[in-house]
Amino acid sequence: MNLVFMGLPGAGKGTQAEHVVERFDIPHISTGDMFRAAIKEETPLGKEAKSYMDQGGLVPDEVTIGIVKERLAKDDCKHGFLLDGFPRTVAQAEALEDILAESDRKIDHVVYIDVARDVLLARLTGRRICKNCGATYHVEFNPPKEEGVCDRCGGELYQREDDNEETVANRLDVNMQKQQSLLDFYSDRGYLRKVNGQQDIDQVTDDISKLVRGQL
Ligand code: ADP
Ligand code: ADP
Ligand code: ZN
Repeated sequence: MNLVFMGLPGAGKGTQAEHVVERFDIPHISTGDMFRAAIKEETPLGKEAKSYMDQGGLVPDEVTIGIVKERLAKDDCKHGFLLDGFPRTVAQAEALEDILAESDRKIDHVVYIDVARDVLLARLTGRRICKNCGATYHVEFNPPKEEGVCDRCGGELYQREDDNEETVANRLDVNMQKQQSLLDFYSDRGYLRKVNGQQDIDQVTDDISKLVRGQL
């Protein structure tokens, strides 16, 4: 199963990806996670990406396409993958078509998690992430059993640097501006599947599972 998750920052892509990759046993490829790992390791890629991420802008297409191409060539993607946060521009979507075509692959579904902008600000500013395993929580909407501690692994929870109000507003603007042409691109190709992201986390997971199994 070759899947793409689309949705504005905070729509629930990462949260849903945790469930879906488990069910379908496919790797979770998040460009945001890849950039954050590069920043932590202080690689040249990390240094370049950081300047854009700090402001809530997009990392340039050439750079982003390059890392995804490398990742999709790995063996664990042979039987499927879940792309989370890529593509975000039509140029990236076109490049993805080419990358997949080179190895006789194609996208099965593009799942668009639809959430209104005014809901997203609260989701993003309350987001917390496990330092150890990357699991995602929310201080109010999806709290861990014990404050500041990961349910899954006992790791410490932290807030992403770019989840402050100012950067969040900019990220939402930048992504909204790109989103419609990307939705049109995938709708024209017949890949687009829309899910209501303003429901309980479990309900969204159910809808996505049914949808990728062709039952919705
Ligand atoms: P994205 O990867 O799309 O940026 P996340 O999965 O990180 O989004 O979710 C953003 C925040 O919203 C997190 O704090 C998460 O716990 C919370 N969240 C995710 N899905 C829901 C939902 N259906 N209802 C309420 N809060 C949610
Ligand atoms: P969110 O969806 O909450 O904005 P991500 O973790 O997916 O967060 O991405 C964090 C940042 O990484 C983005 O704000 C952007 O700067 C960069 N980034 C991630 N994916 C892409 C992409 N496909 N193209 C360009 N920049 C990206
Ligand atoms: Zn954890």
